[in-house]
Amino acid sequence: MALTGLEIFKLLPKTNCGKCGVPTCLAFAMKLAQKKAELKECPYASEQAKQVLGAASEPPMRVVKAGAGADAFEVGGETEMYRHEKTFRHQTAIALRVEDTEEPAALAAKVAEVDAFVIERVGEQLRLNAFCLSNTSRDKERYLAALKTVTAGSSKAVIVDCPDPETVKAALPLLAGKRPVLRPGETDLLPFVNLAQENNASLVVSAKSFEELAARTEAIVQTGFKDLLLELQAPGLGDRVETSTIVRRAALRKGFKLFGFPLVWSLPAQDEHLLLAGAAVGICKYAGILILPQFSREMMLTLFTLRQNIYTDPQKPIQVDPKVYAIGEPRPDSMVFVTTNFSLTYFIVSGEIENAGVSAWLVVPDCEGMSVLTAWAAGKFSGAKVGKFVKDIKLEEHVTTRELIIPGYASPISGDLEESLPGWKITVGPQEAADLGPFVANRAK
Ligand code: SF4
Repeated sequence: MALTGLEIFKLLPKTNCGKCGVPTCLAFAMKLAQKKAELKECPYASEQAKQVLGAASEPPMRVVKAGAGADAFEVGGETEMYRHEKTFRHQTAIALRVEDTEEPAALAAKVAEVDAFVIERVGEQLRLNAFCLSNTSRDKERYLAALKTVTAGSSKAVIVDCPDPETVKAALPLLAGKRPVLRPGETDLLPFVNLAQENNASLVVSAKSFEELAARTEAIVQTGFKDLLLELQAPGLGDRVETSTIVRRAALRKGFKLFGFPLVWSLPAQDEHLLLAGAAVGICKYAGILILPQFSREMMLTLFTLRQNIYTDPQKPIQVDPKVYAIGEPRPDSMVFVTTNFSLTYFIVSGEIENAGVSAWLVVPDCEGMSVLTAWAAGKFSGAKVGKFVKDIKLEEHVTTRELIIPGYASPISGDLEESLPGWKITVGPQEAADLGPFVANRAK
């Protein structure tokens, strides 16, 4: 459980020496309680303080890593029940279930399709994260052959969905260095603990009830191995949401360590609309890894968009770098538009300029990721700030035109901007990006 500032204060030396960067031990205790400082910043902290505060500062949910290189991902490490409380930290990893009973050529084609599948949205490349290879055949050689097909076609992480320790043991060398996830199901897990430990893998603990889940997790934690994920069987979607919520609340609010691991949701094959609904709920309601039986472009666009929204820090909007962007192949005398660095705004405006069939420059000052109206209202998109940015990036050396087209919603800044940029003409463009096409067409007349 988290300690309060006063509880932490009692453990500090109370000499107010200031070596930790704040004037008093009480102020430092408050910073520790808010997780804005680390105990190591106090050089005089006692061993008792280190022990107590070290345990208290452990995250309530463990971070589990899987995959390697560009395909590596982390899940868990969550501290909030609700995204609006602060932020969710590690987005749901989405895996596609494939089976070793699939015809090899069809499996290879599916793997290749998933591996190449990418959707770009607001500047991010969105992909599936892993394959979950099921040992449906219960045949070791068949599983190994299917695994070779998967690893030959993709470097994505693999969930080894297999209850047989001998098959898993034979499979792991094929996944060396790739941090696989072992998912043995409801069998005896202890034979898999060594395998996971020796192969830098994580292990899914599956159970049918809370009691069974706690007992199975405890048995593994006692061995010292903690790279675990939890999976609770539930008959329906409503039950799944309920059990996930209870597990998360127990870990985050009650400090119940045995449930302090990310969750796995595995959805059965079903009507695509129901599957999409279930997967969307999984992303919102705490799936660390979501295993899907099938995928389509439409489904993934929906899920990726949802995931991107849920796992964006509400206090830190997605931003693009402040600079001048070339849209198309602009010349020095091409039009110059100005907008803010909120990703969604940037991509909508740049897309509409492209759709208008012109090449242009797009000047994007730092507005802390706010949209135009919000940035203007917050004073982040003022005439003085935009003018200073234009001077800082030496825009007049890149373009010969001396006209800036600002968004219609920011029309009140035009006077100030003209004042801060002598020699430039400020034109107020349309309020909505969708009207940029007609705006450009009118100017061409
Ligand atoms: S360094 Fe330690 S002893 Fe000194 S003021 Fe900070 S908390 Fe107190």
